[in-house]
Amino acid sequence: MNARPKKSFGQHFLHDRRYIERIVSAIAPHADDFVVEIGPGEGALTLPLLAAAGRLTAIELDTDLIPALQARAAGVGALHIIHADVLKVNFSALAHSHGVPRLRVAGNLPYYISSPILFHCVEHFAAIADLHFMLQREVVERMAAAPGSKVYGRLSVMLQLACRVEPLFEVPPEAFRPPPKVDSAVVRLLPLAAHERHDAPAADVHAVVKAAFGQRRKTLANALKPLLDSDAIRRADVDPKARAETLAPADFVRLAKMCTGV
Ligand code: SAM
Repeated sequence: MNARPKKSFGQHFLHDRRYIERIVSAIAPHADDFVVEIGPGEGALTLPLLAAAGRLTAIELDTDLIPALQARAAGVGALHIIHADVLKVNFSALAHSHGVPRLRVAGNLPYYISSPILFHCVEHFAAIADLHFMLQREVVERMAAAPGSKVYGRLSVMLQLACRVEPLFEVPPEAFRPPPKVDSAVVRLLPLAAHERHDAPAADVHAVVKAAFGQRRKTLANALKPLLDSDAIRRADVDPKARAETLAPADFVRLAKMCTGV
């Protein structure tokens, strides 16, 4: 029996087999992978992923969906369901407790909290090999946007400093029950290796990026006034008269290092 989808949980269940297959083949799970699915719902992605990987850990907030999902998984593989808000799940501890170096994370995300989920995952990137997410198409465009684009902003910079962002394909509303009011897209994120990550203090990067885009129509000299003066901006090799949307992610790292004088 299919449950009535709950709006409050952002439930839009995938039913179009072609898109389910495309997502599963993009993930390409192997028998020894430790796959973690965010929001399994009725199991559209869970069951094929479980069949391929043999085991899967799923994080679901809606209690009502759990018994049916567990029953559907019988005989398919070892499904472990964590009944929790994904924002409270410590992915690093999960990997550690199962003795796996890195998790593979996937999910057709609840759109109402997609940005908090992305920022939560970034915190645990050292314990994650890759991520495949279904998101609002407009969010995927912001994540992958290049400097100069109208949609380039805080999300683009913070993600691109932590991972490679690969938009894969779009998914129309009719592929879901009920259809969402927006278009969707699937994206792959590949966390950067330790030697590729920047070495500026995370809190300073957050502060600089937030201040710069908080007032994106202002020049950097104005927007960053509480953090850096024009001389410091120039010493970071950035023009104080420039606007945030023209800066590459690496420019924000140099600005962040000026905050502490590193
Ligand atoms: N994966 C299923 C599919 O593709 O048909 C369901 C996707 S539906 C868009 C999002 C799922 O995330 C729902 O099952 C919903 O109950 C669950 N969910 C919503 N908020 C959540 C949260 N904070 N933590 C974990 N799961 C959540």
